[in-house]
Amino acid sequence: MYPKIIHLDMDAFYASIEKRNNPSLKDKPVIVGGLPNKRGVVSTCSYEARKYGVHSAMPSAAALKLCKNAVFILPDIEKYKKESRKIFEIYKKYADVMEPLSLDEAFLDVTQDRMNIGSASETAKIIKKEVYSKTGLCVSAGVSYNKFLAKLASDMEKPDGLTVITPKKAPAIIENLPVEKFFGIGKQTAKKMHYHRIYTGKDILNAGQKKLTAIFGKHGNLFYSFASGHDLRPVSDFRERKSCGREITFEKDISDKKTIIEIIKKLSTLVSDIIKKIKVRPHTITLKIRYYDFHTITRSTTLNSPFFSSEEIFRLTCPLLEKTDAGKKSIRLLGISASNFETESCFPKQLIFDFNLS
Ligand SMILES: [Mg+2]
Repeated sequence: MYPKIIHLDMDAFYASIEKRNNPSLKDKPVIVGGLPNKRGVVSTCSYEARKYGVHSAMPSAAALKLCKNAVFILPDIEKYKKESRKIFEIYKKYADVMEPLSLDEAFLDVTQDRMNIGSASETAKIIKKEVYSKTGLCVSAGVSYNKFLAKLASDMEKPDGLTVITPKKAPAIIENLPVEKFFGIGKQTAKKMHYHRIYTGKDILNAGQKKLTAIFGKHGNLFYSFASGHDLRPVSDFRERKSCGREITFEKDISDKKTIIEIIKKLSTLVSDIIKKIKVRPHTITLKIRYYDFHTITRSTTLNSPFFSSEEIFRLTCPLLEKTDAGKKSIRLLGISASNFETESCFPKQLIFDFNLS
């Protein structure tokens, strides 16, 4: 028997809460995020705003240019957290295990059907109804036999969608899926795939495991198994922290190198404090820089032994700064993060060795 997994993703979560709370915003393009004149960034926008090409992570000033009648609202995270808790309480009733991904997204494992509903798609339908009746908010649901496909499904008919990907339907959907949409394939990996003329799920399968592992190492097997429709990652309520760090957006762009180094020093102390507080043993340090033109880059180093102290972090980060154009170009954001923790494995081990789904 296949597992039954539901992925739930609230539609334009923050913006929808603001709209619900203030009926005068109905039908208006609402943008939750920083203000355009304060160098803010869009956090969530309503579907009315999306029609103008506005999307999350875009500078609010650019969003305002696209959508002149947008209503900007500063985020109130506490309010959204409260709403999120309410919604997750509903989910928990129906699932054996719930894995939250963020305030507005979660996976449910409903294989056991604890409410005796009969099917996962019916369960998703009931959950959607209950969320709407208790909160007035819409959630999109994706139902499938693994996490990769369930998440893919929830995105297919947004907003207010309910999409089921059955084992029968899966191969055709994956075949045409751009590699960027696969779990674990970020921008860099996608670039590398394109270089090897791998653009879709079908191309991944055609490349074969041998070629994929030659290019991507052990992750090659993983990509192959996803393209075959297999994903053995369990829904798990234990979420491992993958990285920790701090970043600062400046009020004004900075081009003075001395000032930048001073900021790195301060951030090193902050990051060291977090590392000690959450008791992790990181091996990788990453410097993130966003230039004045929003072009963002990261530079990182991985060490054989873990680091903890602010001095170490500072000493590791300074050479990374040399690999950037900071100083030549002015910068608007600087961040340092630590990752690659000792207990962490990038993917559950069983995925790498076992890709038969029975
Ligand atoms: Mg969402």
